[in-house]
Amino acid sequence: MLSKKGIPVSPGITFGQALVLDTEEFQIPRRRISAEQCEAEKLRIEEAFKQTLVEYRNLRESVAARMGEDTAAIFDFHIGVLSKDRIRHQVLEAIDVKHYTAPYAVSTVFREYQHRFQQMQDAYLSERIQDVYDMERRVLRQLVGQDRQAIERMVEPVIVVAHDLTPSQTAELEHSNKVIAIATDLGGRTSHTSIVARSWGVPAVVGLADITTGVSNGDMVVVDGTHGVVIANPDAETIQHYTIRREQLSRLVKDLQNLRELPAITLDGVRVQLFGNIEFPHEATACVDKGAEGIGLYRTEFLYLTGKSEPSEQEQFEAYKQVVERMGGRTVVIRTLDLGADKMPQERTSEPERNPFLGCRSIRYCLQNLAMFKRQLRAILRASVHGDVHVMFPLITTLLELRQAKMVLSEAREDLDELGIPYRKDIPIGIMVETPAAADGAVQFAREADFFSIGTNDLIQYMMAVDRSNERVAWLYSAAHPMILRKVRHVIRAADRTGIPVSLCGEMAGDPLYTILLLGLGLRRFSMAAGDVPEVKKIVRSVTMEHCKRVAQHTLQLENERNVLNYLRDETRKVLPEIV
Ligand code: PEP
Ligand code: MG
Repeated sequence: MLSKKGIPVSPGITFGQALVLDTEEFQIPRRRISAEQCEAEKLRIEEAFKQTLVEYRNLRESVAARMGEDTAAIFDFHIGVLSKDRIRHQVLEAIDVKHYTAPYAVSTVFREYQHRFQQMQDAYLSERIQDVYDMERRVLRQLVGQDRQAIERMVEPVIVVAHDLTPSQTAELEHSNKVIAIATDLGGRTSHTSIVARSWGVPAVVGLADITTGVSNGDMVVVDGTHGVVIANPDAETIQHYTIRREQLSRLVKDLQNLRELPAITLDGVRVQLFGNIEFPHEATACVDKGAEGIGLYRTEFLYLTGKSEPSEQEQFEAYKQVVERMGGRTVVIRTLDLGADKMPQERTSEPERNPFLGCRSIRYCLQNLAMFKRQLRAILRASVHGDVHVMFPLITTLLELRQAKMVLSEAREDLDELGIPYRKDIPIGIMVETPAAADGAVQFAREADFFSIGTNDLIQYMMAVDRSNERVAWLYSAAHPMILRKVRHVIRAADRTGIPVSLCGEMAGDPLYTILLLGLGLRRFSMAAGDVPEVKKIVRSVTMEHCKRVAQHTLQLENERNVLNYLRDETRKVLPEIV
């Protein structure tokens, strides 16, 4: 039995068979196999090299036909390398001698070649490093593709165990309908992969460091997404323990579901709004089912991430309209593209950045790609006549950015005017407050924005100087640090003073541990993954505002994150013991 503790990112308990995935975009797990498995792994290599060679030959042929022989000759290098035995033999040797898995052997040998090419003085050869990289990706894709097909072939549901998953890979797993839980080596609580798993509603644990080395395909695995525990090959006692826990949890979920039609109102009559966060249009249905009163955050970038290219204006319009119609007149806050950083692997971008979280991300990227930005804004405006649509700009850092974004929105309006296409003239324009600069300048921003949504996922990352998706510094990444709480209070107060609505749409909003505190700080609109709505509603309906204010006052006097967490846990337990 192997038991590992990681970061809980999506609650629930599940048992099932493991499917270990070697992912294409990231580092391949350093896994070893038994001597008996070597032959089969070597056969995979032979097949993958053969298919990759065929792929390059076809590519060469089609390029020659379209662009001529000179251009097609680029592929002679790849074909030359792959048709000789040398590199393939080295990969086979790594499997024979070191017992590496096929993907790990490929990755090690090709990386060594890349390194060698990097050192070369000869300009022609040092430029070939990209080609070696391309070959590695293609061979790996052949191998990983086999893993993906393995999911398709599965009859039984599986628990995916992977080194890391990109948000779009996670979304693909959701579409397969075979995956019942996720466990990964890398990742943080608010990394976008975790957010997708949460919306999807399957138990997930990330940041397990090396779960991929301890689990093999077919192993029985327990995933406790509530406590962040993954157990491989559990004994009978462990299975019994988790079976009981699973039943308790499903009873709680059923009880909470009865609150669906009831309003989120405190015992002393203060009305609160609970909204849902979504990444894909179909998730709007889950929001309604769980009792959300609107969509407080629609992360539109996922439409881009799951397609091969930018979706057309019409495709975007249809996706937005679908959400608005599913919400039947309830508010839908459409956030403009937040591309970059962890959502797009650096290998896939045309200009990799050294510090993507501090780079050309989000609104910065949109303001540098105006035609694309305008296409999205037109699609949002067109959808605005179908319901109560609001538009929201992410990662705003300066007033100038907000003004520029509004200017592009005006141009999009003019385009529609010229075409005679209707849209809502007074569409509310809001900003995410998720950088320390925007939070500090909240009073100034409130004069030029119609509403705020506090993005604690990024605010914590930028205030604490800690990468939100890096499990190695996850201990620093917490909403409970007193300076984060003071900053959140500052933004809520600034919005109240200037009379604009403020919501909070980071993962903090859906964590029941913070509900009493946030109410006490004056928050009246929360936006969270659909699955979190019932628990938060239960807490709202179990407290008085006077009590919440007292809790908030006390919390803000505490010195550190530990004390805050312990105190909030105690207070929440008093109100709702079964949740904590
Ligand atoms: C946030 O940063 O808190 C947020 C809600 O946006 P995202 O998680 O998409 O960055
Ligand atoms: Mg954000």
